[in-house]
Amino acid sequence: MQNTWDVIVVGGGTAGLPCAIFAARRGAKVLLLDAADKLGGALHLAQGQLSAAGTKVQKARGISDTPDEHFADILRISKDTVNHPLVRLAVDNAAETFDWLMDCGFEMVPEHPVEGRAHEPYSKQRYYWGVDYGRSLVKVLVAQVQPEIERGAVTLRLSTPVEALDMENGTVRGVVVGKGDAREVIRGRNVVLTCGGYAANPEMFSALNGLPLFGQGAYPHSQGAGITLGLSAGGYLRGAQSYLSNFGVILENDRYPSPIFGRFNTYPNQRQPWEIYVNTHGRRFIREDEPSVDAREHALLAQPGLRYWIVFDESIRRAAPPQMADRTREDIAALFDRHPMFVKADTLAQLAARMGVPAAALADTVATYNRGHNDGRDALGRAHMPRPLSDGPFYAVKHQGTSVTSTVGLAVNHVLQLIQDNGAPIPGIYAAGEILGAGQLMGSAFCGGMMGTPALTFGRLLGDKVLQFA
Ligand SMILES: Cc1cc2nc3c(=O)[nH]c(=O)nc-3n(C[C@H](O)[C@H](O)[C@H](O)COP(=O)(O)OP(=O)(O)OC[C@H]3O[C@@H](n4cnc5c(N)ncnc54)[C@H](O)[C@@H]3O)c2cc1C
Repeated sequence: MQNTWDVIVVGGGTAGLPCAIFAARRGAKVLLLDAADKLGGALHLAQGQLSAAGTKVQKARGISDTPDEHFADILRISKDTVNHPLVRLAVDNAAETFDWLMDCGFEMVPEHPVEGRAHEPYSKQRYYWGVDYGRSLVKVLVAQVQPEIERGAVTLRLSTPVEALDMENGTVRGVVVGKGDAREVIRGRNVVLTCGGYAANPEMFSALNGLPLFGQGAYPHSQGAGITLGLSAGGYLRGAQSYLSNFGVILENDRYPSPIFGRFNTYPNQRQPWEIYVNTHGRRFIREDEPSVDAREHALLAQPGLRYWIVFDESIRRAAPPQMADRTREDIAALFDRHPMFVKADTLAQLAARMGVPAAALADTVATYNRGHNDGRDALGRAHMPRPLSDGPFYAVKHQGTSVTSTVGLAVNHVLQLIQDNGAPIPGIYAAGEILGAGQLMGSAFCGGMMGTPALTFGRLLGDKVLQFA
C-alpha cells in the first residue's frame, strides 16, 4: 500500500485539471491519475463552448448580465427539467471560472461573447468559444498544471486507469490501479471522480439511455469508468428521463457505433432549407424551417430509430446553396455515387425503395408538400418553400440522431459529495464533470456551455474551497 495523498484526482480532463491545480495551490499533496497518455480529456474533441454570466469580458463590453438571468434562461430552455441546486452552483461560480481562464491567457474568439450558436440562444451574450475550440482550454489548463507538477505539488501518472475504489466501512479510503501482480492500492484523504462520461461505451450507453449508441463522436476514454466506481461506493444515478440527441449527423455506415461522416446544415438561421425531411415511415415530421433548434431536436426524438432522410430533387440540387458547409455542390453530388448514406434514383418510387421507406407514403408526402408550395400554405406551417420536388433524379441523405455526451450521472449533494439514494453523503468521495450527466445540468435540452463550464467550475470549487486537507 502506498502513502496517503491529500487528494487523488481520477481523470485529468476538464474537471480534474482545475481541481488538481487549485488543490495544489492550497498546499495539498495531489495525485493526478489518467487512463489516457495525455491530459485534457474530452476537450481535445469538444467544441468547448462555455457560458458564464457577469464576467469581466461582458462588463468591458457593456453587457449587463447576472447568474440569476443565466439560471432563468436555463430553466426556460430546459423547461425546468434541471437539478436546481447543481445549476445554481454552476452559474453562480461560472464567471469566476471564466475570468480565471482569461487571466491565464485563454484565447477567446474575438467577436464573443454571443447569445448562442448551435443550441437554443440565451437572452444575453454570455457564450464564449476558444479560437481552437476545446483545445484552447487544454492549452491553458496544461500550462497551469505544469508548474505544480514541476514543483512536486501534483504527481501525475498517465496511462493509469483506476480500476476500483478502496473502501473501509462505507468510507472511500483510496483507489486501486493496475491488475494482477501490478495491482496497487493508493490511499488518499479525498478521492475526486473526474473521469468523464460514458458516451464512448456502447453497452453502458444503451443500458442507461435505452437506445443504441449510433455514432462515435465521444472521447475514446469516456467509457463510464467513473459511473461504475461511483455505484460501487454506494452512489446512485439521476437524469435517465432527460435523454436528447442532436438533430442528426451522417454516419459512415450502418454498423453502430459508426464513425461520423458529417452533416447537412439544418440551421435555418444559417441556411434556409430547400429540402424536406422525411422519417422512416416516409412522412415529414417538422416544418424544416422551424426556428427553434430545441423544437427540431424534440421532434426527432419522437421519430422511429431517431433517423430521417433529407430529400430533394435535381432542380433543388442545382439551385440551392450547398448543404454542407465545407463542400461544394459538385463534391456533394459525387457522394451519391459512393457513400452508403447518400442515395439517388430516377423516380420517387425507386428512391423510396433505396431509402427503405414505403413508396406510397413518400409519393403522398411529396405531392402534399408540392401542393402546399403551389398554394403558398404548407401543412406543417413551413414558410420557406422555394421550389417543389418534381424533377428527377431525386436524392435522399440519411441523418441519424446521436450523442457525444452522457445524459445520466451520479447523484451528488450541494458540495459535490457522492450521495446514497437516502441523501446520505458517502465519506471520502466527490464527483464533478460529465460523470454527473447532462440530465442534471441541462435537463431535457442542450443549454449552451452547460457541460464544459460546470465541469471546469466544479473542479475549481473542489480544489479551491470544498476539499479539506489534514
Ligand atoms: C465532440 C464534443 C463536443 C462538445 N462540445 C461541448 C461544448 O461546446 N460545450 C460544452 O459545454 N460541452 C461540450 N461537450 C461536452 C464537454 O466537453 C464534456 O462534458 C466535458 O469536457 C467533460 O469533462 P470531464 O472532466 O467530465 O471529462 P474529460 O474532460 O473527458 O476528462 C476525463 C478524464 O478521465 C480520464 N479517465 C477515464 N477513465 C479513467 C479511469 N478509469 N481512471 C483514470 N482516468 C480516467 C480520461 O482519459 C479523461 O482524461 C462536448 C463533448 C464532445 C465529445
